[in-house]
Amino acid sequence: MRRREQACSRHSNRYSRELEDAFLRFLEVYLGERNLEGIRSLLSPRMTGFGTALNERSDSLEQSLELFSRDLEQAPRPIAYEILSLQGVSLDQDLGFVQAELDLHASVLGQAVDLLNCRFTVIFRNYPDRGHWCIEHLHHSLPSVGEGDYESYPVAKLEEQAALMERLVQERTRELRDARDRLQVVAATDALTGIANRLKAGEVLHQELSRLQRYGGAFSVALLDLDFFKAINDRFGHGGGDQVLREAARLLEAGVRHTDRVARWGGEEFLLLCPGGTSGEVAALAERLRETLAAHDFGIPRRVTVSLGVAQATAGDSPESLVERADRALYRAKEGGRNRIEVAEIARS
Ligand code: GH3
Ligand code: MG
Ligand code: MG
Repeated sequence: MRRREQACSRHSNRYSRELEDAFLRFLEVYLGERNLEGIRSLLSPRMTGFGTALNERSDSLEQSLELFSRDLEQAPRPIAYEILSLQGVSLDQDLGFVQAELDLHASVLGQAVDLLNCRFTVIFRNYPDRGHWCIEHLHHSLPSVGEGDYESYPVAKLEEQAALMERLVQERTRELRDARDRLQVVAATDALTGIANRLKAGEVLHQELSRLQRYGGAFSVALLDLDFFKAINDRFGHGGGDQVLREAARLLEAGVRHTDRVARWGGEEFLLLCPGGTSGEVAALAERLRETLAAHDFGIPRRVTVSLGVAQATAGDSPESLVERADRALYRAKEGGRNRIEVAEIARS
């Protein structure tokens, strides 16, 4: 996007056109190609210059090249430019200068930066042995910036913005992760009692049965149902019943090992999941829990008892078949008079 035709001078004197062409060549390698070697080939051995920022000055070719390479590092991609005005003036046959005004459209740290009305004053010397005009002195000023030491582009500001963005993204990611974790907990928790719900119990059943199938070992469950719970509700109200359920859940959780899980399976039914437990071991646990609950003061003038059905898993079990065996054992416990446990026969798989 160069507007050379409109922007160029009327070639005020003899070498104007040559000087302007030399400047355009410089723009091409400096802004278009961003090529340090290309730039070097256009600089005189006595090159000096200064730019917008205070420290952006050079007294030698080496320093100039250093400034250019810093510039290329900060904005390595080609910089689009529009020439607003351009005029070359020769002073004698091997000395002249160019004055130009440009709008630059750079990409610094991935962000578009417009540097408007940049002014260049470039002194050229003709080196006959090199066959072209070389830059002897360059002064450019970028009125729209001037950010700090060694900065033609607002690098520090952009870096700060990038760091801020990154912090925000990290924060947001953490928030989302926390929210997701909370959601997972909520989705797996029974609202009334705060223990695992049926969804979570299903997950554990599935995991433990898979583990059993792959590695063997023991896994047993116990289905627990409160006895005559309808009567508790009828007598003490739904709130009273709820209180009994909460208390029962607390006692069950306190009574099992930390590797066991207690889940609310339904209204007043709980499922104990005991990885590593044989039906004999879990029957002993079930019996202990039954006694604990029967002896507990639930804060109502009535004893609360429970019945349990224990079943040990086999490699051929599905979650449904295992719980169904426990349920049948539970049914027998109820039939047998309640406040007792029954153990299912180990299924032949
Ligand atoms: P059984 O000894 O045969 O188990 O008798 P039961 O009265 O416990 O019989 P059943 O299992 O049919 O009754 C369960 C009752 O539990 C019925 C239902 O109103 C009550 N229930 C289910 N969920 C809740 C709950 O969240 N809170 C309260 N308070 N009651 C519930
Ligand atoms: Mg029931
Ligand atoms: Mg019941």
